[in-house]
Amino acid sequence: MKRFRTRLFNGLALWSLLLCIATIFLWITSYFSQLDINWAGNSVSWELVISRGEMSFSRVKWASPIPTNNLGWNLSGVAPRSLPDQLQSLTGVIGHFRFRAFGFAFFTLHRLTVFNGRQFLWPCWALALLAALTPVVWMIRKRQRSKPGHCMVCGYDLRATPDRCPECGSVPATANNSK
Ligand SMILES: [Zn+2]
Repeated sequence: MKRFRTRLFNGLALWSLLLCIATIFLWITSYFSQLDINWAGNSVSWELVISRGEMSFSRVKWASPIPTNNLGWNLSGVAPRSLPDQLQSLTGVIGHFRFRAFGFAFFTLHRLTVFNGRQFLWPCWALALLAALTPVVWMIRKRQRSKPGHCMVCGYDLRATPDRCPECGSVPATANNSK
């Protein structure tokens, strides 16, 4: 079970690292082009927008079915604009900021009998930082693993139990040799 947990953590760290790299890449490109990924189902649409170092995710529920030629995935790139400015222009007309602080925001969209939705806004650095957490912990553990007297698999201190790791159950090579 502990061995499984270690493998799960390694996998998570790898995916987090890829997410972190992708976020930093999109963060830089968002100053040159606004990326807009949109998916539309029968009456619900989802949209991820990355522009000028900000990301937003929205979900809109439509009262009437979406035209069939607009269904499915849509990808577009237009000139970047500040996302809070884009939402600000909708404020009072079809939307409201419910929360807004430090580059994070929660926005609701509403037009009676046509649609209603919600939109979350966060800075690219926040996602990059969050995604960097597990890879950083993984690297710290790796440094511990390479220290003498620590488990090669999970980095646990083996000075009290040199024959077998109590944390992940692996038997150190030095303990094997002495048998
Ligand atoms: Zn171990």
